[in-house]
Amino acid sequence: MSKTEVSRRSLLQAVTVGAVAVGGGAALNMAVPGTAEALVRKLPGNWDETWDVIVVGSGFAGLAAAAESAAAGAKTILLEKMPSYGGNSIINGGVFAAWDDKWHYREKLNLGTDSPEQHFQDILKGGDYYSIPELAKLVADGSADALAWVVDEGGAELRPTVTRAGGHTAYRTHAAKSGVGREYTEALRKIAEKHGVKPTLGTEVTWIWRADADPKSPVLGVEVKRGKKVMNLKANKAVILASGGFSQNVDMRMSHNPRLTSDYNCTNHKGATGEIHKFAQAVGADTLQMNFIQLYPYAEPETGLLDAQAVYPFNGPGYGILYVSKQGKRFVNELERRDVVAYAQINLGKDAKPTWSIFTEAMILPMGGAPEEIEDGLKRGRFVKADTIPELAQKCKIPSDTLVDTVNKYIQYHKDGKDPEFNKPITPAMFSLEKGPYYAIAQWPAVHFCMGGLRTNAKTQVIDVFGSPIPKLYAAGEVVGGVHGSNRLGSNAIPTCIVFGRTAGRNAVLD
Ligand SMILES: Cc1cc2nc3c(=O)[nH]c(=O)nc-3n(C[C@H](O)[C@H](O)[C@H](O)COP(=O)(O)OP(=O)(O)OC[C@H]3O[C@@H](n4cnc5c(N)ncnc54)[C@H](O)[C@@H]3O)c2cc1C
Repeated sequence: MSKTEVSRRSLLQAVTVGAVAVGGGAALNMAVPGTAEALVRKLPGNWDETWDVIVVGSGFAGLAAAAESAAAGAKTILLEKMPSYGGNSIINGGVFAAWDDKWHYREKLNLGTDSPEQHFQDILKGGDYYSIPELAKLVADGSADALAWVVDEGGAELRPTVTRAGGHTAYRTHAAKSGVGREYTEALRKIAEKHGVKPTLGTEVTWIWRADADPKSPVLGVEVKRGKKVMNLKANKAVILASGGFSQNVDMRMSHNPRLTSDYNCTNHKGATGEIHKFAQAVGADTLQMNFIQLYPYAEPETGLLDAQAVYPFNGPGYGILYVSKQGKRFVNELERRDVVAYAQINLGKDAKPTWSIFTEAMILPMGGAPEEIEDGLKRGRFVKADTIPELAQKCKIPSDTLVDTVNKYIQYHKDGKDPEFNKPITPAMFSLEKGPYYAIAQWPAVHFCMGGLRTNAKTQVIDVFGSPIPKLYAAGEVVGGVHGSNRLGSNAIPTCIVFGRTAGRNAVLD
């Protein structure tokens, strides 16, 4: 045994023995010695149910994983703690980055070139080169195929356009026909059901069982709570963690990024609380980049809601949308990444809420909008509409002279093909703001996405603190860290979840 191996084993054994001095049947548990948690963790004497593959979480990643493992013949259960399925995925904005699609919209609409390599480079640059390149490459290479899968096998439909969103250098962001992530979760649910798996709702995973810290020691199963009932489920082949991020857990996000206090709203569903990260850590899993937590710059200012209307400011930059402060001045290059836009807003000062996005009628369809969303947005007061800029300014309580001046300058930059103020690239697809009617929507940053999470390899195996895969433990989706570096480019999460979810489902059955 090498010196490293000796020290690694003795360290883990010391932790294990210290944590669970309860004799035979003790489970690996790296909780703090002496805590109640540490004392009670004993391996189950018998298992209530036995499955081949246990998937935790019913969002994009979990559904894709369950569909693939069941398709490969594994007896698969898909566990979901909430009373309904879908997590953040089902409420998501439906924008999906893929360099191509079966209709070749980008080419047909003359929106320039793109390639998996260009997408890959954008992911790296957009995350300040903190991404694990091998993982980012798999997303870029697999995005078009992931989109084709939900369209061809699941029946998902798209709007006939593509947009160029902040940080992307190409028009590659597709919009779901329904305008929400449900378009793809329903498609994935159908594929999974075709193979016999339905989400098992109201079933919370409360522990991951692993006997000991020997690198060869596999994960054995999970403990779950259903109502008051506690049960233990055995996994013959693998446990796949697809439990999403932890944006709703204020203590957890502040322990990694103290700036993200409860003063910030959050776009996520209530179940994005991150306990699975901790259970995985307790059985030896490594994490990375947990401090990289994204703010969505365009959430509804008072509630943090990310509804269909809040996606317009995200989809608009490639078609000429304008962002202004409540003083009527531009404050950022509209084609910038989310982190740059969000902190540009925050740095305007504590009374700067809200900022506004301004677009015209002509931009709506190209930027993936829909008349029924406009109508609904106007009815609910999410959009403000006016025939002229002074009228829009008056309705939004923005100083009219300043806004008129800002818009006139912006129109001139568009004519000149050059933005001397913020250096935004002007593309032929961008519309001028010369002609109304005009629309405005208020926006403010809200906590949105966890770039950090569990460390995995290209096979989606969860890696322990010493760099070895933990046998029979896989993870995919937002629970995984390192794909997007310091900042995820918008619309890259869906392909990430589907690409790695499918990989996890396929690999899990090989164990
Ligand atoms: C409002 C909103 C809009 C978004 N829009 C877009 C977009 O348009 N495009 C894009 O690319 N990305 C978007 N994102 C990001 C993207 O939707 C998420 O990153 C993605 O949905 C995560 O999928 P997932 O499968 O990893 O996790 P989720 O979809 O969050 O699913 C995880 C599931 O695991 C369950 N779970 C957690 N813990 C347990 C437990 N202990 N036991 C059992 N179950 C558990 C949760 O309840 C949840 O249902 C958006 C995010 C939000 C919040």
